[in-house]
Amino acid sequence: MNRVIEVGTAKAGPNQKAQGELVVCCYPDGNPCSLPVMVANGAEDGCVLWLNAALHGNELNGVIGTMELFREIDTSQLRGAVICTPICNPLAFFHKQRLSWNDGMNLGESYPGNEKGQMTERLAAVHLSAVKKYADYFIDFHASGVTHHAMPYAVYKLCGYPDVEKKVEELLRAFGIFINCGVNTLAKTDEPVKLAGSLDIELNRAGIPAFMLEIGNAARLERTMVDVVKNGTRNVMRHFKMIDGEETHTAQIFVRARGIIRCTCGGLTVPLVVPYQRLAKGDPITDILDRYGNIIETVTAPEELYILSVKEDVVVQAGERVVFVAYARDSQIIN
Ligand SMILES: [Zn+2]
Repeated sequence: MNRVIEVGTAKAGPNQKAQGELVVCCYPDGNPCSLPVMVANGAEDGCVLWLNAALHGNELNGVIGTMELFREIDTSQLRGAVICTPICNPLAFFHKQRLSWNDGMNLGESYPGNEKGQMTERLAAVHLSAVKKYADYFIDFHASGVTHHAMPYAVYKLCGYPDVEKKVEELLRAFGIFINCGVNTLAKTDEPVKLAGSLDIELNRAGIPAFMLEIGNAARLERTMVDVVKNGTRNVMRHFKMIDGEETHTAQIFVRARGIIRCTCGGLTVPLVVPYQRLAKGDPITDILDRYGNIIETVTAPEELYILSVKEDVVVQAGERVVFVAYARDSQIIN
């Protein structure tokens, strides 16, 4: 870009890369608490794409995917800029856990943050104000929980900003994940997590198209998932003419609601489905066994749906989630 981009201590002129840090506050021993930031500033003007990972500290595929992608960017061939915060929550990341170790807070529920609040709230405030200053588009890489097996899927929030949502859908179409779940934040939903305090909601409110990707599974590095991060992001960059090359399009499904299915009985869950499978109403999802191996319940699909992730660590309490799903009602298939 024909201007200097400066995020924290990372400062890059046209056709330059820089790395630095966004300082949040200090640890009790006086060492700075900061998150790494990288800037790849292109030789020519274009849009600014911000890539974020490890907002939950144990979700690793996006960390390595964005780092590798950044390393491979040739700024002389780049129009616009890529800004990357690959370890968004260092308070959780270095402790190999989802939530901040020191205050137990969920950064994903802490936006817009508070500069005078606890460390996680301060982190949210510093991060958000940096993103708002530069980002035209924002992609937030997450992963599904450690106890579930998942295929990649996108989650985007419908917050009552149709112009922004149209751009988000364009971005999702370019990225190319198979299942894309719109979540209506204005209605009562059966969401697996709290929506209040989400980063993407704050950004959409500020007019910056943003969405979350659940890329594979937490607490491990999966090469195929790292490649999903890199290939999808490159496709987005091609779509917005940030780099040369043909966009590739695959079949995609856009659904209007995500949800969870629970078992009634406690016991041992033995899944009968795999991620991305489409089920009709009444199709079996999992058998629940008692401690002798007798089938005491078969959980079935309450309506037509797609499986997103399947619980694999066997033991379930009464009422526990056995699968995450995307409901097929009102969905749109794009070939
Ligand atoms: Zn996450």
